[in-house]
Amino acid sequence: MESTLVNLEPGLYIVPTPIGNMDDITIRSRRVLSACQAIACEDTRRTGQLLKKLNIPKKRMISYHEHNEQESGKYIAGEIDKGLSVALVSDAGTPGISDPGYRLVREAIDSGISIFSLPGPTAFVPALVASGFPTNSFLFLGFPPQKKGRKSFIRDALSQPFTTVLYESPHRINKFFAELIDSGNGDREICIAREISKIFEEYIRGTALEIQNELSPDRNLKGEIVIVVKARKH
Ligand code: SAM
Repeated sequence: MESTLVNLEPGLYIVPTPIGNMDDITIRSRRVLSACQAIACEDTRRTGQLLKKLNIPKKRMISYHEHNEQESGKYIAGEIDKGLSVALVSDAGTPGISDPGYRLVREAIDSGISIFSLPGPTAFVPALVASGFPTNSFLFLGFPPQKKGRKSFIRDALSQPFTTVLYESPHRINKFFAELIDSGNGDREICIAREISKIFEEYIRGTALEIQNELSPDRNLKGEIVIVVKARKH
């Protein structure tokens, strides 16, 4: 393993990065970021800061974000085809999880490129596990749509017989709870995981109505949030 890491074989390395606490970078992720020939990233400035914190010297970065996924994905796959080892990172957590990544992975598969998917930080797994709700089967839905289709998305999400995990912006958390309650789900058990792995990490538990009463009506929660909803008993 060590030797392949010093001299990485050509391929696409999917590298999760911390969602808060820098200590959550794995030893292997750090080594791959050190040894790869280029890093495909959402935000070159942000990834530059990450490399600095990890004491990794500057290296070639290729911009890969939601607005250039298609063309950049083709370009990156072409570079790997020429023999490059490329690490894919997002701003935080696991690339491809509510972040760009899917198209590049697809492109790499279609081009016969080797893929190495490194395990590591992501927000939904610690939130799910800390919720205390059943984890034997669960549904991860990412972000609800902001406008069109939002109501039906939330209604469908809440009718599933599994623990359901959602990402939501803190600016829309009060709206989310109002919608939940309006749709007759005030009694649903919820856990909000906030600022996982950061200084103000907290878990807010209760029914949708209880949590809504806790939230200040004119002030949204601050920080990053995962919402976990327990399945209704069928
Ligand atoms: N790729 C990331 C992952 O693997 O989880 C997700 C990226 S998505 C653009 C960002 C969302 O992830 C946030 O809006 C929030 O819902 C969730 N998130 C990221 N970091 C978090 C943290 N430290 N605590 C709680 N939620 C977090």
